[in-house]
Amino acid sequence: MNHSASQQLFLEAKTLMPGGVNSPVRAFSAVGTDPVFIREGNGPLITDVDNNTYLDYVLSWGPMILGHADPDVVAALQNVIGKGTSFGAPTEAENQLASLMIESVPSLEKVRMVNSGTEAVMSALRLARGYTNRSKIVKFNGNYHGHSDALLVKAGSGLLTHGIPGSPGVPEGVVQYTLTARFNDEAMIRNIFETHGNDIAAVIVEPVAGNMGVVPMTQSFAHLLRTLTSQAGSLLVFDEVMTGFRLAFQGAQSLYGITPDLCCYSKIIGGGLPVGAFGGRKDIMDHMAPEGPVYQAGTLSGNPLAMTAGHATLKKLQENPGYYDQLNLQGSRLAQGLRDLINKHNIPAQVNQKGSMLCLFFTEGEVTDFESAAACDTQRFARFFRGMLSRGIYLPASQFEAWFLSVLHTDSHIHQTLEAVDATLSEID
Ligand code: PLP
Repeated sequence: MNHSASQQLFLEAKTLMPGGVNSPVRAFSAVGTDPVFIREGNGPLITDVDNNTYLDYVLSWGPMILGHADPDVVAALQNVIGKGTSFGAPTEAENQLASLMIESVPSLEKVRMVNSGTEAVMSALRLARGYTNRSKIVKFNGNYHGHSDALLVKAGSGLLTHGIPGSPGVPEGVVQYTLTARFNDEAMIRNIFETHGNDIAAVIVEPVAGNMGVVPMTQSFAHLLRTLTSQAGSLLVFDEVMTGFRLAFQGAQSLYGITPDLCCYSKIIGGGLPVGAFGGRKDIMDHMAPEGPVYQAGTLSGNPLAMTAGHATLKKLQENPGYYDQLNLQGSRLAQGLRDLINKHNIPAQVNQKGSMLCLFFTEGEVTDFESAAACDTQRFARFFRGMLSRGIYLPASQFEAWFLSVLHTDSHIHQTLEAVDATLSEID
């Protein structure tokens, strides 16, 4: 594969942006090669500036569940783009997306739109603190909730990929109220509640963690979190930035049968445009300004293009409930195919899959938390990644990221992927 145009652009980008990118994992530094520059996408495929086409399992890190340039989303955008792109004033498009979310997800009684997942979580936790009048937050090792200061502790993929525990620039004082616990460890979270229960404003969790590969919460851990938070008067916040409208239309919470107090969204609800949202119980949400005293604002929040793309995406998902069966089926097929190939090649590896999110971990033991994910052979992953890229399969450039499927990943795409895996595993044995 010729990558000369991408290489040229990357050389230029490095003189313009730190590391040549606007988000670290895009630089491909963990996989020992240069990034490819994407020119366009169509359905499940993306094409780079050298005219190489790849089957895309990154899907912009999750949002493009309908595939790239979905005709209905494009048409909806074309319909509004000529009428002005931002007003900083209420628009009907905000009502439309908000009401679709609220009528779809039972735990959502009110929502507020923001511009990213980071903002959604940061604001939801401020609200949790303002509502409970408490300061401590519990997060789990290997869960990523965006790059706001207080949450950059043991935060999974981006940091793990680059081998840094937290980030310089985050003073100790800022993280002093962030308690960290082991994911899926019931004894540890019980202990934390015994010691700090009265000071805990909220527990935030990725129900199916997608930032240390893919690691689902166990059902009993999920119920324990609900019980402990309710007993202590703390809020349970689900970070459904990845899982929302992906694992099911009602999100991961519907799969676990848990009603969180607050939830955070981004990715799919923006249909590929920058967006985020948080929402939950009305009595809590009404603590937000201007109804209540907890401040939060945004020049571009509720942006009409983002609302339109998000609404068109969710509407299409709502009107095609069969999409979720198909996503789950293709996810299972790919996972089973990967497991068969691991056995064939006798490679120490694991596959975790939940619906249309999955991860191939190069490690011997089961992966149930950050500690077991961190045991992976990242060098072997890097060789695997390069082999797959050269065969036209675009995977996340990190061992610790989720692979995503779109509704346009068909049997023949899964077959093509497994053929590439077979050839790549032979090469890297
Ligand atoms: N929460 C989760 C679970 C995420 O996966 C991400 C990003 O991948 C975020 C929050 C942050 O979202 P954003 O990158 O839009 O700020």
